[in-house]
Amino acid sequence: MENARIALKKDMAMHVESEPAHEWYSPAKVYGKNVFSLKIMQERLPKQVYKRLEKVIKTNGSLAEGDADIIASAMKDWAIENNATHYTHWFQPMTGVTAEKHDAFFIPSSAYNDGNLLNEFSGKMLVKGEPDASSFPSGGIRSTFEARGYTAWDPTSPVFLMENSHGKTLYVPSIFISYTGESLDRKTPLLRSNEAVSKQALRILRLFGNTTATNVHTMVGIEQEYFLIDRRFVSLRDDIKLCGRTLYGAMSDKGQELEDHYFGAINERVLSFMADVEKQMFELGIPAKTRHNEVAPAQFELAPVFEPANLAIDHNMLTMQILRTTAEKHGFYCLLHEKPFAGVNGSGKHNNWSLCDSEGNNLLDPGNTPMDNAQFLVFLAGVLKAVHENAVLLRLATIGAGNDHRLGANEAPPAILSVFLGAQLSSVIDSIINDTEENGDWKQDMLKIGVTSLPSLPKDVSDRNRTSPFAFTGNKFEFRAVGSSASCAPANIALNTAMANALADIALMLETAIASGKTLTEAVHETLVTVFKEHLPVVFNGNGYSAEWQAEAKRRGLPNYKDSVSVLAHYSDSSVMNVLTQNGVLSERELLARQDILLENYIRDIHVEVKLTVSMGRSLILPSCLRWLDEVSALVLKAEKLGQTAGFEKIYYQNLQTLVSEFYAALNELDEEHKKADSLFGALVRAEATKDNLIPRMNQCRALADTLEKIVDNSLWVLPKYNEMLW
Ligand code: ADP
Ligand code: MG
Repeated sequence: MENARIALKKDMAMHVESEPAHEWYSPAKVYGKNVFSLKIMQERLPKQVYKRLEKVIKTNGSLAEGDADIIASAMKDWAIENNATHYTHWFQPMTGVTAEKHDAFFIPSSAYNDGNLLNEFSGKMLVKGEPDASSFPSGGIRSTFEARGYTAWDPTSPVFLMENSHGKTLYVPSIFISYTGESLDRKTPLLRSNEAVSKQALRILRLFGNTTATNVHTMVGIEQEYFLIDRRFVSLRDDIKLCGRTLYGAMSDKGQELEDHYFGAINERVLSFMADVEKQMFELGIPAKTRHNEVAPAQFELAPVFEPANLAIDHNMLTMQILRTTAEKHGFYCLLHEKPFAGVNGSGKHNNWSLCDSEGNNLLDPGNTPMDNAQFLVFLAGVLKAVHENAVLLRLATIGAGNDHRLGANEAPPAILSVFLGAQLSSVIDSIINDTEENGDWKQDMLKIGVTSLPSLPKDVSDRNRTSPFAFTGNKFEFRAVGSSASCAPANIALNTAMANALADIALMLETAIASGKTLTEAVHETLVTVFKEHLPVVFNGNGYSAEWQAEAKRRGLPNYKDSVSVLAHYSDSSVMNVLTQNGVLSERELLARQDILLENYIRDIHVEVKLTVSMGRSLILPSCLRWLDEVSALVLKAEKLGQTAGFEKIYYQNLQTLVSEFYAALNELDEEHKKADSLFGALVRAEATKDNLIPRMNQCRALADTLEKIVDNSLWVLPKYNEMLW
């Protein structure tokens, strides 16, 4: 009987997956078509209501009583006119994916069901939902007697329509909290962290004489990497289906060594997939911008234009969903996992981050005047202080079983948090610390303000260093350690909170100096010298992949948590806890719950992989190996019968048999250890056992199987190989 992989190969050679019909579109015509945008709100809402809502959206605050009903009614009319049948609160629980529960707009018009329908969607329904939330992770916050959590509308992210072939649903972006008001999601702390950083940034702006800005937003642009493979392979690969990555599979004979994929011409079938993805993004008002091939074979990247953090993150969650569903439609399977193919580059997410005041000024833009520069340098000092003092918090924002394959594996930035500034900006800082004149080409541009001098900054400081986890790229920082499948919420919660905390300290230093009679310029200079001196050790412009950096970072006292479990153990350290609680981002109870949830998520992810490693090993790989052993043993017998006693057949057989029996033993050992780890008590203890006892054994099973894959008769191997899936 022919094995499934060989049958599939034949079938694929004969049947090219058909593509959805070609469809041309004009981005300008479809852009925002499915969004209840400010433009549509302005058209459909009474002027005063619109004004109040716009204020809530742009500068926070809460909605006036009674407005919710008016807004809900306008939303419902718009949605139903656009053929929506259902609505749902859409939220981001701690599962890592989004959640939704749909309700029809329609109810029977009478209890006797006389055949008529009424539509209903009140302000109350818009503002608050009560999903049965008892199955979402709560880390013990929600005991069963208070099992209900509730969702609440987030007016700062517009409602939108999601289309499927039979209808449309109105999505209401929402936060998700317990009955007692604790956050059970990732949006609530993000919104809180935005407020925290806004408050402290405004304090600094006021010192610089800015009386008009009403708030400060963090702006975020998220670059998303992903892999595409033919969907037909996935039916034969439960590992990809259930874990998002290959648990077995030897490296293909051609890797990425030729670097011929990066920025290469995009394959026609892939390009039409990308165009379809972008069309849906445009309809949802997501400003897709860049698309290209990435380094690894079958790897791609997509980036939209930056937006306020809350929106950018909602949009990235939607983008991941669109990538997955559109891939199916085009006969592909989209892998968002950080490391789908061992030996091949993994995927990350670059979180570009900056601060922007309500008047549109980027506070991380060096600017043109000495005063602008001085203000920029104060915010820059804030960033260095924030990253240096909150390395653990930031590292926590990048954890995940998948991302552990990447960080520190010389393809992604190391797990050590440092900041890349580039040579020019670094020498500006040096000159401030040493009070010497800047000695670069831009010396003639230096301008003096008051008694002290602040150098004018060179305009192009966007050197590229791909090995840094946190790089200044001209007018923003690029946080490069986030995993490709992860939500960017944790990264921005951490960045905003760390920044709020650092800016609060800096504002206090400036305020104190000014109160003691110093001029602003003197206060700024003195503060910059102090802060830059203290936090210079976090700046590193060299090669983050090098072994020397690991040693140097250690000398500088920068922490290096190589995996998720070791850093998660520090989530409840008082230094981490205080920053989050003091800035009003997470309460102690929320934080401890989160630590527990994240550990459990890690355990769950790895344990599924372990179980599948064992079952695929036993039911798919061992049988192929045993068949091949059987055939080889027949050859040995035949050789012996013919009197060729010491033939190579015997050596070959023995080597093969040794490998197969080692694999068999390794599977048994992994299975045993899994049972032991599962029976341990306490999340941290179980996570540690998982990391220390299961992952190395899982790797061992894989190493043996991958060696066998290159030996066993190709026609007996059932799992699609890298050569087939990636090229
Ligand atoms: P690269 O791959 O060279 O880093 P990309 O164009 O792929 O650059 O992505 C850069 C991302 O940074 C985009 O999403 C872009 O909109 C975003 N970005 C640009 N300026 C800012 C800014 N001031 N604040 C936040 N994000 C920004
Ligand atoms: Mg890019």
